[in-house]
Amino acid sequence: MTGPAQRPLLFLDVDGPLIPFGGEPQDAPTFAAAPGSAGADAHPLLARLNPEHGRRLAALPCEVVWATTWMADANECVAPRIGLPELPVMSWPEPSGTDDEDERLGLHWKTRALVARAAGRPFVWVDDEITGADRIWVAAHHRGHALLHRVDPRRGLTDADYLALDSWLRELS
Ligand SMILES: [Mg+2]
Repeated sequence: MTGPAQRPLLFLDVDGPLIPFGGEPQDAPTFAAAPGSAGADAHPLLARLNPEHGRRLAALPCEVVWATTWMADANECVAPRIGLPELPVMSWPEPSGTDDEDERLGLHWKTRALVARAAGRPFVWVDDEITGADRIWVAAHHRGHALLHRVDPRRGLTDADYLALDSWLRELS
């Protein structure tokens, strides 16, 4: 049995994977907040959070890390609504000298920071903005296993996504 330090990381974006957008507004189901959690009046889109995500994410054999512009608000507003505990939060770098190169490569602004944070540990990155440029860069710069899993932002994480994540993670161990 491997301890938590050895478990793969799962870098989780919020807008897109957990909060669907970009589809027809009438097609996006809404869900009630768990008792005591922050109300949707603060962030109207929070009502799109399906509380099932909490259970399904917690069942994955990995350590979930928020990798989102929600930053600390992910723990404040998102986690309680879906029944997740407080999770580690990625902090993002200030603009830097590599930004021009990243733009030329078409690299996502999160990619370098995630690879640095993983520091060779296996990781999954779940995001709606992953492209081939990110896959190529990660393959060249990360020495462990990595799965860059793009989610359709109109639907958010689906059964098929969870299946893919779960089987990749279980194959690792
Ligand atoms: Mg997103």
